[in-house]
Amino acid sequence: MSDSMMSALRGDSLKIYIRVCGITQQKSKTTVRMASKEIQALGIGINYVNAAVDNLVDLGLMAVTRRKGPSGYFEFELLDPLTRLPIPTRYARKLDASTLTDRQLETYFMHRLQTNYSHHDTQGFMAFCPFHEDGRKKPTLSIKTVGSGAWHCFNPKCPHHIGGSVIYFEVAYNLLFNHRPISMPLAWERIVCIIRGAERREEIDNQSVSNATAEMASVQ
Ligand SMILES: [Zn+2]
Repeated sequence: MSDSMMSALRGDSLKIYIRVCGITQQKSKTTVRMASKEIQALGIGINYVNAAVDNLVDLGLMAVTRRKGPSGYFEFELLDPLTRLPIPTRYARKLDASTLTDRQLETYFMHRLQTNYSHHDTQGFMAFCPFHEDGRKKPTLSIKTVGSGAWHCFNPKCPHHIGGSVIYFEVAYNLLFNHRPISMPLAWERIVCIIRGAERREEIDNQSVSNATAEMASVQ
């Protein structure tokens, strides 16, 4: 971490950062859940907890999910200070996009890109890129649904010119449309949710078709 970033880390934020680093090392986890009380136990006044957490988010050191209410908590995920992306750990590497079938990858990307969908080839498809200006002028987003779901944008000025995995797409998508980083485990959860939802709808459709066919058969 650079010296300027270190000095920008205010006292309270630094306490949280060190604590979270410690726990992630001990448990080799990507995310750490802490109740507000546990944070206060680090010697942070109740009225300063949110500001300290905001500071960590502003510096791009952590992605934070907040649950409010009596059983509320903060969930912290360490980010790489340079890329602001989650630091891969043993668990994050286990989130393996190669477990998805080609069909499932296509389902996910089609859901996210909606009308941006363009033409198919044998490896996947091209789509309009949501990540750069003028993205709708021509389809520059290349998505491979054969294999692991790797994608990239052909526009060299695009922030996602290099692209990445399907999980990274979900992280980048959330950053763009929800303006906040999400953790890789959460991104993976959302991908799985989208695919499961689509498969469930398909099941229901198939069921009603087969019911209708059975009905017609019994009438004859
Ligand atoms: Zn692009």
